[in-house]
Amino acid sequence: MDMIIFTVLPPLIILLFYVTSPLLLTRKYKGVNNRLIDELSALSNTDVKVKLKDDPEVNAISYPNGVVVVTLGLLQAGDEYLRAALAHEIGHIRGRHSLKTLLLTLALVTLSIFLLTNVSLALGLTLTIGSILLLRYVSRMFEYSADSFAARLVGEASYTSLLLRYMNPNEKSWILSSHPTIYNRLKRIARSSGMEIKSEEIGPLG
Ligand SMILES: [Zn+2]
Repeated sequence: MDMIIFTVLPPLIILLFYVTSPLLLTRKYKGVNNRLIDELSALSNTDVKVKLKDDPEVNAISYPNGVVVVTLGLLQAGDEYLRAALAHEIGHIRGRHSLKTLLLTLALVTLSIFLLTNVSLALGLTLTIGSILLLRYVSRMFEYSADSFAARLVGEASYTSLLLRYMNPNEKSWILSSHPTIYNRLKRIARSSGMEIKSEEIGPLG
């Protein structure tokens, strides 16, 4: 009985958090409706619900309930950047990236706990560490995937202008990073369209 509780309870808590947190997080923001969002919804065949966060930073984030929260800074940055950022978030929604991350997390947590409590501490800890690394790797792959989707949806030039304008070119990425470096992201986008990119071409922010 104890074994079942120990193994089943943590995944249940994660599941509950996954279901409730987007609702709680996105409820407080008011909805945004404009022509550009309607156009992108139609173009991507995705029902995009956009909400606004009063934040001067330029940022956007999508939640598992299909809501994209954009910051006031992004809204004020202009239509081209808003389109590009929304396209990236639609890429995450279309790819069901948060659901896939959840399922993988649940499987790894359940298996890790089972190993830790029933098989061997060493094996359980190895899988726990391996799981963290794997989830971070998957997160970086999902970023590439959303980039590629966005570049196809709004055009490569338009999408990369967002990355070049607002991402920090000096930001490093390592095995625990959730995002790849800007250089690697641009390189992937360029590769998928048959272009080459050199690190000198990425200037400083702004
Ligand atoms: Zn992303």
